[in-house]
Amino acid sequence: MKRINLQRASSQIARPTTIRDINKRIVLNYVRDRSPISRAEIARETKLHRSTVSVIIDELLEMGLIVGIGVGVSTGGRRPELFELKKGDPTAIAIDVTPRTTTVAVADLAGTLLAKETFSTSPDVDFMTDQIIRRTTAMIEQTGAKGVEIGMSVPGLVDQANGKIFHIPYFDWRDWDIADRLEKATGSKVTVENDANATALAELWFGDERIKKSDTFVMVLVGEGIGTGIIFDGQVYRGEKGAGGEFGHMIAGNNAPVECSCGSRECWEAYASEKAFIARYKDRLRNGDLKQNEMNVDNLVQLAVDGEKHAVEALKETAHYLGNGISNLIVGLSPQVVVVSGKITKAWDVFADQLYRVSERSVLAGLPPTELIPSSLGDAPTLLGAIGLVLARKFGSVT
Ligand SMILES: [Zn+2]
Repeated sequence: MKRINLQRASSQIARPTTIRDINKRIVLNYVRDRSPISRAEIARETKLHRSTVSVIIDELLEMGLIVGIGVGVSTGGRRPELFELKKGDPTAIAIDVTPRTTTVAVADLAGTLLAKETFSTSPDVDFMTDQIIRRTTAMIEQTGAKGVEIGMSVPGLVDQANGKIFHIPYFDWRDWDIADRLEKATGSKVTVENDANATALAELWFGDERIKKSDTFVMVLVGEGIGTGIIFDGQVYRGEKGAGGEFGHMIAGNNAPVECSCGSRECWEAYASEKAFIARYKDRLRNGDLKQNEMNVDNLVQLAVDGEKHAVEALKETAHYLGNGISNLIVGLSPQVVVVSGKITKAWDVFADQLYRVSERSVLAGLPPTELIPSSLGDAPTLLGAIGLVLARKFGSVT
């Protein structure tokens, strides 16, 4: 039960339309998750009156959010009409900025990509601002996505509520005003989010069944650094000014193999990120039979999958520290699921034991079991997260 915050109460007053809006969202979510589905099935599942469901279905049809797709099998009377989400219409524009590449894409209501363009990310912030605006405007023109909302994922510190990007550490960009500029240029509403939170949001909306069923989970993104996204009670937990979830900088020791992005050798990120994995591999290879400059995380993960001894050992040691940090998150937050995302998950079977011992440890400490799973979202979870930012405003709770 939430305390009512009087500073926000005026926006939460239940107006006569509120109940209708809530029910409409619930019906829309049934069509999203259980389609093809009939009016009768929705009424049975939701315990809403048949006539209420019919009125809502008519409204959703009129709004162009769902379509009828023919009739199903009769269970007695008339054969029921079945519905699913309307596909193929531009519904979300997604912009995904990562240290290496930037992607602009258009998706439909089901999250399916209708158009996509990827280009190299430049360290020149003015050039990037111009590129993103020009390419997004062109894609809106091509796909007829005028007025469609934009979601944007960036690798940095974001005040999501106010659309402010404070800092992109990788390029040291500060107070990047891309959201305002993009909104003016396109006339579309722009929502920005930190990449780890966007990835957690992608898991919430597009992830594994076990994640979809849980309201409280933690996503750990292992990349150049470590990012974490916390989904608490079905929404991203952001903390003051969006700075919550920076567990990559929690103290994990004092002699990490590499420096953290903040310069310290004490942070979890310095022990358990891709950088730490690569450093441990190089260390084992001092007498070297590989060209060191050819080493990148993709190659090393593949070597570990192939069973190359040094890569397997370096990955297991890194996973040991990854597990230590996850153990701290579990004892502190007791999530239903921890999902691990990033390139190293391609070698999940190589190091999974190092992580599973962690969940065993928390059960010994008397906590309810937490499931540890690799992400099922493939190579571009942050792009899906950017789409999720827009879709959450269509499917998410209205209160
Ligand atoms: Zn740090």
